[in-house]
Amino acid sequence: MIKTDPLVMIPGPTPVADPIRQAMATQTYGHTYGGFVKAYKECLAGLKTIFQAEQMIVVGGAGTLSMEMGLINTVRAGEEILVVTHGVFGDRYALVAKALGIKADVLSCPVGERVPLAEIEAKLAAKKYAAITLTHVDTSSGVMAQPKEVGELAKKYDTLFILDGVCASAGIPEPMKDWGIDMIVTTCQKAFGTPPGLTMVAIGAKALARREALGTVPTYYSDWKNWLPIMDNPSTYFATPPVNLILALNESVKIILAEGLENRYARHDRIGRSVRAGLAAIGVKPVTAAAALAPTLTVAYYPAGVDCAAFRAKMEDYGVVVAGALGEIKGKAFRIGHMGNVCITEIVKTLSSVERALNALGVPVQSGAAVGAACAEWDKAAAPSCSCGCGK
Ligand SMILES: *Cc1c(COP(=O)(O)O)cnc(C)c1O
Repeated sequence: MIKTDPLVMIPGPTPVADPIRQAMATQTYGHTYGGFVKAYKECLAGLKTIFQAEQMIVVGGAGTLSMEMGLINTVRAGEEILVVTHGVFGDRYALVAKALGIKADVLSCPVGERVPLAEIEAKLAAKKYAAITLTHVDTSSGVMAQPKEVGELAKKYDTLFILDGVCASAGIPEPMKDWGIDMIVTTCQKAFGTPPGLTMVAIGAKALARREALGTVPTYYSDWKNWLPIMDNPSTYFATPPVNLILALNESVKIILAEGLENRYARHDRIGRSVRAGLAAIGVKPVTAAAALAPTLTVAYYPAGVDCAAFRAKMEDYGVVVAGALGEIKGKAFRIGHMGNVCITEIVKTLSSVERALNALGVPVQSGAAVGAACAEWDKAAAPSCSCGCGK
């Protein structure tokens, strides 16, 4: 039989649903052409609804460019920011700051744990920072931060709150206005389920005012002031947007709004719990502290004696791609992305492949144990109706 596409269960890019892939394959319109302008506007409006954003910038790039664009438009070289990190992607914000000549105070903690709010508050109370950065879900450790609580602290100490939403946006709530988030820097290939290639920044009033106050910024392509007029009127030109990707993102946004934000977040939460129940049933333990587990991905330690490359190669033989770990747990753990347009169907295939791979590598686990536990967890919830074909 012919081999079908592998199931890509890494923490981004995530599986791309057919309607999104088809939007990507549409005729490439001129970027100031009516049909495209309409789709771009529709897409930006939908994103503003999702984030409660004052403004949205969506241009060609990656999540890392969003991080850089967010900082360079709101903080001057020489100013100080507080970087709260739960892993490799939190650390990346300190590197971005350094490259821009911005001083970063870094607040970290042991891998898999969460920086206590009291420590964040103590830092904010001790020094006036131009901004605080927080990674909503650190994709290296699987730690979900507390943006709502940090939003309250940022307000109390009057600092700009920048949230890296890359591994969370569209899978976990991020209501900017309700939670006091001044900016969300994010991208499209994770919980949006679109092919990679977009820089997305959701901007609140305070961040817009900060950009105004800065006057000029040391960037051309990334200067919000060059892009904001285009976002307000996409029939004008500054630099050519990735037309087909924006059509794909627009399709993704439509899917998100049709599912309903509450339903979508509840589905992610339920998938996360199902994956964890499945792994627990075969003795595979998460790296992440129980209180900080993210709905969008799971980072779990290999049982003793399992080689990372051999495990992932076995998984690929079975048609499932999972990711290795990053940072200090590299080689000791693996990561399963479970966000975007995936449901229990994909989890069943993934977990059954984990069972088979472990058995093949000499770690005996009972076939079906992880799958059974995951389905039992999934079936517990009185769920909103799901249209994916999972039967719920
Ligand atoms: C993936 C990721 C990034 C980087 O995104 P790229 O699109 O690879 O540049 C940044 N932050 C977090 C939390 C991520 O998961």
